Amino acid sequence: MSTSLWAHTATAAPRTSALDRNDEVGTVVVGGGFAGLSTALHLAELGESVHVLEAGEIGQGASGRNGGQVIPGIKYDPQKLRKMFGPEAGARAVADFGTTAAKVFELIDRYKIDCDDTRVGWIQPAHTKAGLSEAYERCRQWAEEGADVAPLTREEVVERLGAQGYHGGWIDRRAGSVQPLSYVRGLAAAMLSQGGAISTGTKVTRVEPDGAGWRTVTEGGHVLRSRKVVLCGNAYTGGLIPRIARSYIAANSFQVATAPLEPGQAEEVMPGGIVASDTRRLLAYFRRDRENRMLMGGRGSFKNPVSDQGFAHLVRMLHKTFPQLAGQPIEFRWAGRVAITQDFLPHFHEPQQGLISLVGCQGRGVALQSRMGEWLADYVATGDRNALPLPVTPVRTIPLHELRELYVAATVAYYKLRDLI
Ligand SMILES: Cc1cc2nc3c(=O)[nH]c(=O)nc-3n(C[C@H](O)[C@H](O)[C@H](O)COP(=O)(O)OP(=O)(O)OC[C@H]3O[C@@H](n4cnc5c(N)ncnc54)[C@H](O)[C@@H]3O)c2cc1C
Repeated sequence: MSTSLWAHTATAAPRTSALDRNDEVGTVVVGGGFAGLSTALHLAELGESVHVLEAGEIGQGASGRNGGQVIPGIKYDPQKLRKMFGPEAGARAVADFGTTAAKVFELIDRYKIDCDDTRVGWIQPAHTKAGLSEAYERCRQWAEEGADVAPLTREEVVERLGAQGYHGGWIDRRAGSVQPLSYVRGLAAAMLSQGGAISTGTKVTRVEPDGAGWRTVTEGGHVLRSRKVVLCGNAYTGGLIPRIARSYIAANSFQVATAPLEPGQAEEVMPGGIVASDTRRLLAYFRRDRENRMLMGGRGSFKNPVSDQGFAHLVRMLHKTFPQLAGQPIEFRWAGRVAITQDFLPHFHEPQQGLISLVGCQGRGVALQSRMGEWLADYVATGDRNALPLPVTPVRTIPLHELRELYVAATVAYYKLRDLI
């Protein structure tokens, strides 16, 4: 079984090393993915001292393994957000979450991040007639908010994607794509350029109150003292704060990538850098990369895959959607974890003052976590919770969390059935 495609085409990572001394800093950020690095970058831009601690390499969690689709918004449509949070907070959430993709492109431009970005939009093709009604309604709602979106007929979807089996869909032109490992490495380089620090290979084992601030202890036995700590471990938080780890399910998402398509063949599928993920509950997401490889992503088993067989369902989906690629060899297969919360919303928690965490990107976090970092940095710097797009909530653990593997299996079986209807 091969590994992530991204390491193969990524730009070089900035030079970092493990923490080798005790120190003091304004804010410690745990986690070197989009959320942690964006938080640290924005803190550094505000002139705050910040140190990121990452257990592995930069982007080793979901940020260096994802599909690279830069899609604005969260799971919920504008009307639903207004209903959930009330007219004022709901309107703010709609406006805020609508800006997330723009943030990514702004950072890329500002710091000249070399990451194969495209900015021609995202298509959500509908796999059933009911899915098409939902897609058109979603498009209508975003159009009402002034977003650059449009409904697409079946013929337009075929023309723009070269994909089979869809009834139509909609396009959101605010979206695009990045080479995710290059992008996250670019964020790290930008953060360093603004005076922040990062230590990789530095697993945090404990975070403890220390007078008016915090002590963050690493596996290597070093201590960083700080006024505040921001936890951005997301689905990889593990046992650091067990209660937070029990508030979400760390589900697997799998991907495969073909060998590069021949030029004639490449023009037939997803021309011009468009990206797509469909209306299935167990959605399929796909795009073509810089080397003309076709990527297909989707659900995976709860356990990490141990052989190519674990990816067979994605290869079947690739061939069903793009029959013209049936003979194309698969060269890369990999997986990563996304944090799913009970209400499918991202959550800010502050279990004790100055210990702030963000979890739950529900599988759509390239744009979201980049923007979240800016909001988190504002909150850390000002202490004003209005800086955040959603309220800070108490940690709500999932009952019988130890049975999560069963929950995932039951949900997958149920969603599979719903997707057939
Ligand atoms: C296969 C896959 C495909 C996806 N495709 C897309 C897509 O196309 N578009 C999209 O928008 N989203 C996608 N996502 C979701 C997106 O990748 C995530 O939402 C996003 O990367 C989360 O970023 P993060 O910084 O919050 O967490 P992560 O990137 O997971 O970073 C958390 C980091 O914290 C570190 N960490 C954890 N605990 C500790 C500790 N104790 N000490 C030190 N470090 C620690 C981890 O090592 C990790 O690097 C996908 C996810 C996966 C897995």
